[in-house]
Formats: sequence, C-alpha cells, structure tokens
Amino acid sequence: MNSNWQLPPDPFANDPNDPASFFEDDEPFPPLSDEERARMKQDLKLMREFRRVLAPKGVQGIFFYCEDCTEEHFYDWDIMEANMLSTLAEEQSAVHEPSPNPDPHNYVPWDYCLGYLDGIQQR
Ligand SMILES: [Zn+2]
Repeated sequence: MNSNWQLPPDPFANDPNDPASFFEDDEPFPPLSDEERARMKQDLKLMREFRRVLAPKGVQGIFFYCEDCTEEHFYDWDIMEANMLSTLAEEQSAVHEPSPNPDPHNYVPWDYCLGYLDGIQQR
C-alpha cells in the first residue's frame, strides 16, 4: 500500500542531484517480526552452545559466505553475540564489521557447528 499520492510532488523528482538519493543505499532497519525474533533467540542460544564446545578446541568463530561482497566474512564468537543482541534490541548493529585479520583455519561454518553439536549430543 503506497500512500505517496497524498504527498505534494517531490521538488527533486527529476533532479539527478536529489539529496534523498544519497540515502537510498541505507535501507531502513526493519523491525523484527515475532517469528524472526524467536529464530534469532534460538540462534543466539545455539551460538553460545557452539562457543562453549568449540572455543576450547581453538575455534574462534563462524564464517559466512556474504553474497553482497561475494567473499567470506569471519566473525568471532563475541562479535556474533554482540551482533545478535543488538539485532534483538533492534539497534543498528554497531559491530557488524568482520574480525580483523582472521586466520581462516580458526573459523567454521554455522552448519559445521550444528553438526558438531548434534554429534556430541548423540553420544
Ligand atoms: Zn559482506
């Protein structure tokens, strides 16, 4: 539902220097739905379990393939946790930056952690 028709015409509508265009890349931070919030809480719980069992083995965190950058991003456990907590608090994540100079050998994918946790729980 678009309510823009109620607004007066945009004086910059055909102006390539429209000041609003500078903000277009900054997507507004959407509020979490109840479902997303529940999933995030579950992920946070899992992530803390992963850290508990994997950190003593020298695993420093998780890596994700980022489709925006088309490269892998490495996140320390504590950075992951802070990101999740600020998402739950609906704050713009202040610590979105990947860990500096990660050693890829010390990071594992999320799915690996899930499988690892499954493995030790079935013992
Ligand atoms: Zn990225």
